[in-house]
Amino acid sequence: MTDAPKPAIVVVSAQHADQLVDEFGRYARDYEIAKARSVDEAISVTMSLTRRGVQVAMFVSDSRLPDSLAPTALHMLRSLVPTSRRVLVAPWEYFREDSVAFRPALAKGKFDAFLLMPRGLRDEEFHLAIVELLNEWGASIAAPLVDSVQIVSPDSRGLVLAIRDYLFRIGAPSRVYPPDSEVGRAVVEAYDGEPTWPLIRVFSKDEIVAPTSVRDVAMSIYGRPDEIDVETVVDVVVVGAGPAGLATAVYASSEGLGTIAIESEAIGGQAGTSSMIRNYLGFPQGISGTKLAQRARSQALRFGTRFFTGWPVTGVKTGVDGEPHVVCTEGGDVRARAIVIACGVDYRKLNIPSVDEYVGRGVNYGAAMTAAREMEDYDVLVVGGGNSAGQAAVHLARFARTVTIVVRRPDLSATMSQYLIDEISFNPRITVRGNACVVDGGGTDTLEWVELESTLDGSRERVDVRGLFLLLGAEPRCEWMPPDVMRDEKGFVLTGRDVPMEHWIDGCPPASLATSVPGIFAVGDVRAGSMKRVASAAGEGASVVALVHTWLEPTHWRSEAPGGGERPRVTRGA
Ligand SMILES: Cc1cc2nc3c(=O)[nH]c(=O)nc-3n(C[C@H](O)[C@H](O)[C@H](O)COP(=O)(O)OP(=O)(O)OC[C@H]3O[C@@H](n4cnc5c(N)ncnc54)[C@H](O)[C@@H]3O)c2cc1C
Repeated sequence: MTDAPKPAIVVVSAQHADQLVDEFGRYARDYEIAKARSVDEAISVTMSLTRRGVQVAMFVSDSRLPDSLAPTALHMLRSLVPTSRRVLVAPWEYFREDSVAFRPALAKGKFDAFLLMPRGLRDEEFHLAIVELLNEWGASIAAPLVDSVQIVSPDSRGLVLAIRDYLFRIGAPSRVYPPDSEVGRAVVEAYDGEPTWPLIRVFSKDEIVAPTSVRDVAMSIYGRPDEIDVETVVDVVVVGAGPAGLATAVYASSEGLGTIAIESEAIGGQAGTSSMIRNYLGFPQGISGTKLAQRARSQALRFGTRFFTGWPVTGVKTGVDGEPHVVCTEGGDVRARAIVIACGVDYRKLNIPSVDEYVGRGVNYGAAMTAAREMEDYDVLVVGGGNSAGQAAVHLARFARTVTIVVRRPDLSATMSQYLIDEISFNPRITVRGNACVVDGGGTDTLEWVELESTLDGSRERVDVRGLFLLLGAEPRCEWMPPDVMRDEKGFVLTGRDVPMEHWIDGCPPASLATSVPGIFAVGDVRAGSMKRVASAAGEGASVVALVHTWLEPTHWRSEAPGGGERPRVTRGA
């Protein structure tokens, strides 16, 4: 814990201020509850809070205010504190009318939630929405009050940033402490040896790690695949723990299959880097990709999935004559009766050496949630015109002074969803620069400038920026796969009827999510013809488990296993 002042929740209402303050009383231990009866008063309350160094976590506004339209008021208040969450509360008598009137503003992201004013004690529906927003706010701010991982380092760039990003994505709040701070001195003292930076203490364990890579941190948390007994054959190994792999893990382990998920980076995949997924079924206020991934991981763990993160699968030896397949990693091999490939896609690289040199020092592939938080009051560029670029820009605008989206096309209309285009056009910090591309960049220690070239006339302009976020689309990650797993010309894995006929067995195509190798399945973005959405990836992960079950049926195995005949005795479970 720290001595930092409590963050605040600011309630704005002329008619219901006392009722709302009373309702928020249950949060008073952790938050200062401030009250204002008009927007003008809310502005001065907010300014006096920020002058005292108090972070404003949330504005809660009545849907009817005396001096402004409520969505406009929330928007104005947010420009004072961009990281805050904004909730609009309507009393029952206006709820229907206001929900119709304010729905377009909610869709454009002018506020985060539209709730019915609590009408009695213990309105837990109301508080569930509030707690989720506060939880999400807590995960997005730079210095969480609670840390489960302490990082000691004189600076927070390069490896430290990558480690913090990994920890953020697995839901472990971290803080960086200078070596001469109280925590820093305690960690250095507990370390057995000459300290190198960073030093890391995980979950208050006595063991201090001096990592040279993110994998060292992952290993200290999750272990290595070779911890599994070499004799053990698991039912299913899932390669990749994005939405598709996580869904496979949840359904496979919930149905009693011994399941191992191997992930090269942090759990969550691309979705884990998304600041807010708004179109996933069942989350009306949206959900951050990290939260969704953490919940899915907990669900899979509860059913018995074992995860290994930080270990890319480097190859698969396909089993012949009824032998299991072998999944290889640098941390050991795992033998499996079935494999589900859920390894998604990877960001396309810019391939400009002068810019790539600054990766981790201002240049980031993807939305890079931790790096985004370090952009407070700086100018940043987002390159790319897809939805992921739009989301990254909206997230960055919470911190950065200005965000410029750079696209080769004249505008975003052909590549981005309309709801994001609306949100971006409404956000005063974000501008779109069409017909342009990045051609050069540089700085002394960190990125300080990039050069943009016009795609119309080739003219160049140098702009000063501290952050460059590259969201250039993605391609499948298949170099590790055995060649008998067939892929299309772009590298996506072929399944079902897309597998060429000459590879069908007895004239029958593989099942819909089965590849050209019996017992190996593919789901999610890596699969040719997939939807490239969180929901469809999760749906495929759930669906594939039925096919895995069929494959694992002893009768099926005996009659169709390569080579036929009896299979060796295999044990279920890891
Ligand atoms: C910033 C951003 C925002 C997005 N927003 C939305 C949205 O709002 N709504 C929506 O529906 N979709 C959204 N998408 C798309 C969505 O995230 C993807 O469609 C979805 O994540 C695909 O899931 P997946 O599990 O198939 O693959 P991925 O999410 O790509 O996960 C694959 C996982 O496999 C791991 N992996 C790769 N190779 C190996 C290997 N050799 N060994 C072990 N592990 C490996 C990767 O590290 C990764 O974690 C967004 C994407 C991005 C990048």
